Amino acid sequence: MSFSMFGIGVSGGIAIGPARLLSHTSLEVSHYAIDERLLDKEVARFDSAIAAVREELEVLRETVPAGAPAEMDAFLQLHLMILNDTTLCEAPRALIVQQGCNAEWALKQQMDLLVKQFEAIEDAYLRERQVDVVQVVERILKALLGEPSQISFSNGRDGPGILVAHDLSPADMMLFKEHNFAAFITDVGGATSHTAIVARSLNIPSVVALHHAWPLIRENEILIVDGTQGVVLVNPDRQILTEYRLRQEQWDLERQKLKRLRSTKAITLDSQDVELHANIEFPSDVEQVKKNGATGIGLFRSEFLFMNRPDLPDEEEQFIAYRSVAESMKGAPVTIRTLDIGNDKPIDQGPKITSNPALGLRAVRYCLSEPRIFNTQLRAILRASHFGKVKLLIPMLSCRDELFQALTMLEAARNQLRTEGVKFDEAMPIGGMIEVPAAALAVESLLDLLDFISIGTNDLIQYTLAIDRTDDSVSHLYDPLHPAVLHLVAHVIRTANKLGIPVSVCGEMAGEPELTRVLLGMGLRSFSMHPNHLPMVKQVVLKTSVKALETLTKRLLSAYLPDKIHGILTKLNA
Ligand code: PEP
Ligand code: MG
Repeated sequence: MSFSMFGIGVSGGIAIGPARLLSHTSLEVSHYAIDERLLDKEVARFDSAIAAVREELEVLRETVPAGAPAEMDAFLQLHLMILNDTTLCEAPRALIVQQGCNAEWALKQQMDLLVKQFEAIEDAYLRERQVDVVQVVERILKALLGEPSQISFSNGRDGPGILVAHDLSPADMMLFKEHNFAAFITDVGGATSHTAIVARSLNIPSVVALHHAWPLIRENEILIVDGTQGVVLVNPDRQILTEYRLRQEQWDLERQKLKRLRSTKAITLDSQDVELHANIEFPSDVEQVKKNGATGIGLFRSEFLFMNRPDLPDEEEQFIAYRSVAESMKGAPVTIRTLDIGNDKPIDQGPKITSNPALGLRAVRYCLSEPRIFNTQLRAILRASHFGKVKLLIPMLSCRDELFQALTMLEAARNQLRTEGVKFDEAMPIGGMIEVPAAALAVESLLDLLDFISIGTNDLIQYTLAIDRTDDSVSHLYDPLHPAVLHLVAHVIRTANKLGIPVSVCGEMAGEPELTRVLLGMGLRSFSMHPNHLPMVKQVVLKTSVKALETLTKRLLSAYLPDKIHGILTKLNA
């Protein structure tokens, strides 16, 4: 039966391929068939993951610091015992062969069985040990997903599959970075949720908020995903397939053409220079940044280094990651945002998810409440500043006092490094994110303490319009053209320009080509966006005369009716 589904397109383009359903459990792993001839390889992949985790645990045991509590060694010993038990290191091998399935799936099935057995134990302490089994399984899964699978999806006839999931956390998305999916679709999620943002960074078409995709679509059914229109066609007929293959070719051709703009300077028709920077989540994203011709990194979402792991990255690990980005950008600016967790970006050691995480202990609030974690990150960023043009960005400021505390902690970190004789850039610029309406309205109360600001329109829209970014039932209310949003953004840009403080936009608004002229008209000259959006935005910049935007921008900011606003936008983009 063929049918279509409508959701929110979060990453453009068209993909055609067989559905690959993701298991809908707390520990979601993909399930796919392995060609009989490749089963030996899959078992070997499982064995090497076990060996890697064994080595990891042994090294951890050897490096337990002298003064560490005795439980630490006991805990590692227990994990090694669990790992070496045949129920975990042998049974999944048999399942792989019997069921012709991938190693992750076999392991997950075995874990479910063991957890059930543990649940039946009367002794509370022993029953609790199921947590350790899950933790060991997570380690093995990490090892499995960490090394890219050599096995293609399905039997190789259909090309890469389309991932169908009920929901994906940003952390899940990162794990899928390694896999060869042509597109993915989910039942839940909003356009600016972090899952959607990571989806964009995978550079594959994606549609979220489909509501019933996971229960309705079956494994192997052929899907067309139109990430631009937010449409998914299930089991399309031959005519539709031909039509979409054509559209797919046109889209790819268009993207190829835009790539030619890579080294063209972003300058308007009336000679206004415009900075087009990129947002990244990982050091490895730098490659895409360069491919798309960004002249700097306007937002490095450092929190992604903290996800998908049971521990926190230490100072050295963070320093290496930040330094590698700073060095590979060869003197171009690299804006590292301090840890912005909470809301829809939880980490294992983060604050407890409360009833209203978006309004809770998030971002700078969390960092101020965890001075040790904050100090470690500040030291790592400061140290990296010696190796490139690093800028530091503090997220989610809401008042001057909060900024003052963060700056005090930064100064303390500087003093530590000075005492230790460690080199760093004494003049490293410090910026603040304007993403809370209070900070936008009272932006003047922060500017004298900052070297630059960056407007986070994703959160600014969330908080101004009272719509949870992660809740697809209110995602239709997300509106960057709401007059309240336009006024706040314009106010911040105007005030910063008046006081001579550099201002940029790093939320999704900056990467929407239809809004480029709106922002240019408001006086913005610095944009930071997902690298894939950069060529499209650059194309608009090159065709724009800022002078010619003045009258229409004034009219836009005095309009209140949605129809009028949309009418002016059409004229601005004509
Ligand atoms: C924003 O809020 O606009 C932003 C850029 O930060 P994030 O999307 O990571 O919250
Ligand atoms: Mg934000």
